[in-house]
Amino acid sequence: MLSKNKALVVFSGGQDSTTCLFWAKKHFEEVHAICFRYGQKHEQEVVYAQRIAERADVPFTVLDLSFISQLAVNCSLTNQAITMDRDKPADTPPNTFVPGRNLFFLSVAAVYSREHDIMNIVTGVSQTDFSGYPDCRDSFVRSLNVSLNLAMDEQFVIHTPLMWKDKAETWQLADQLGIFDLVRHDTITCYNGIPGDGCGECPACKLRKRGLETYLKSKV
Ligand code: ZN
Repeated sequence: MLSKNKALVVFSGGQDSTTCLFWAKKHFEEVHAICFRYGQKHEQEVVYAQRIAERADVPFTVLDLSFISQLAVNCSLTNQAITMDRDKPADTPPNTFVPGRNLFFLSVAAVYSREHDIMNIVTGVSQTDFSGYPDCRDSFVRSLNVSLNLAMDEQFVIHTPLMWKDKAETWQLADQLGIFDLVRHDTITCYNGIPGDGCGECPACKLRKRGLETYLKSKV
């Protein structure tokens, strides 16, 4: 039977999922972290994730979902030959969108959860700063939650603590959880694979930096 005191965090070692990991530790007795290799260009994501999971003292599992990159041939995060979109095109998601990623991640997370009697699944997606990715929206996550419960005849609860937060509010939450410095220096959000404040140029870095500046200004 699923335990309501246990949670699994879909974990990448970035700002959002690291904040979620410590949020989960505050709210649940037993927390696990699951990380995926999906053919992302920057393997050190996994190294950073493992290091943070060790510091958080949570069991850490890495699974290989590299078939995603074989499918996502038009994605700049998994196909070296494609130049990354700097800005979101008007009518489609940017080419940093990995189609199906959160669908696969959350589905695999649910199977892991079932096998480990975990009721709560935590993901760091945000509709507020969703960068045009449809699988970061609240309606998708709610719909998948229902489907996963039907698929396995279980009562999983998917938590999205960042869904309605912008990046500045996510920094604020990290600060409240006492992990501001850890998130600032020891996570990896950059699409170019540079830890901490990153390359400063890619869309992920710009979003993170803008949020940080807004948050730091609001504290003064
Ligand atoms: Zn960057």
